[in-house]
Amino acid sequence: MQEQLRKSDTLNVVGELAAGIAHEIRNPMTALKGFIQLLQGSIQDDFSTYFRVITSELQRIETIITEFLVLAKPQAVKFLQRDINAILIETIELLTAQSLMQNIQFETCYNSEIENIYCEGNQLKQVFINIIKNAIEVMPNGGTIKVETDTYKEKYVCISISDQGQGIPEEKIKKLGEPFYTTKERGTGLGLMVSYKIIEEHKGWIDVESKLGSGTTFRIFLPLDGRRKGSL
Ligand code: ADP
Ligand code: MG
Repeated sequence: MQEQLRKSDTLNVVGELAAGIAHEIRNPMTALKGFIQLLQGSIQDDFSTYFRVITSELQRIETIITEFLVLAKPQAVKFLQRDINAILIETIELLTAQSLMQNIQFETCYNSEIENIYCEGNQLKQVFINIIKNAIEVMPNGGTIKVETDTYKEKYVCISISDQGQGIPEEKIKKLGEPFYTTKERGTGLGLMVSYKIIEEHKGWIDVESKLGSGTTFRIFLPLDGRRKGSL
C-alpha cells in the first residue's frame, strides 16, 4: 500500500512537470524542423550525414513529446459521455498504416451493448495508442493484435489488447508504468507512465497478463458510472 502510494505520488509530480516542459518544447521544435528543412535544400551533399542525425534526433524528441501530448494540454480536458467502442475504432484507424507496413492485422470484438462512459476521449485515445504502439513494437515480424471490449461485474468496462510478442518476465511487470522504465534501445519509458496516470484519473486500473514467448494482454478497466459532472 505504502509502495503504491509512493508510486502514485511520483507519477503525479513527474507527470505535471513533464507536461509543462513538453508544452514549452513543442513550439521551438516546430521552428527548428522548418529551418532544417530549408537548410537541407541549400547546402552541399557533404553534410547529408549530419542532416540524417539531426532529423533522427528531432524525430526522437518529437516521439517523447507526443507521448505526453494529451497531458501537455490541460486546457483541452473535457469529460463527456463517450462510446468506448467508437474511440477504439478511431484509434485503430490511426494506427492501420503503420501496422500494415509491419504485416500486423487487428482482430476486434466489440460488445455493442456497453453504455457510454463519462470520460476524456482524447486522453483515452492516447492510452490506447500508447498500448497498441507497444504491441506493434513487440511484433517486428507481424502477427495479430486482438482488441476486445466487454463489461466486467456489471460495473466496469474492460478493454483488452493482446499481442503475440515475446512477453514480459513476471518480475518486470511491476515496473511497468514507472517513469523512464524502458527495455528498448530507443525507448522513452513514458508511454505506460502516461497511460497509467490517465486511467488512474478515470478511477480505473490496468492489469497485465503475460506469457513468455507467446504474448501479453493489457486489460484496462473503467467504471461505467465514472466521474460524473460536478464531481471533478
Ligand atoms: P517504451 O515503449 O518507450 O519503452 P513504455 O512506457 O511504452 O515505454 O513501455 C515500457 C516498457 O514496458 C517497454 O520498454 C517494454 O519493456 C515493456 N512493454 C510494454 N508493453 C509491452 C508489450 N506489449 N510486450 C512486451 N513488453 C512490453
Ligand atoms: Mg511505448
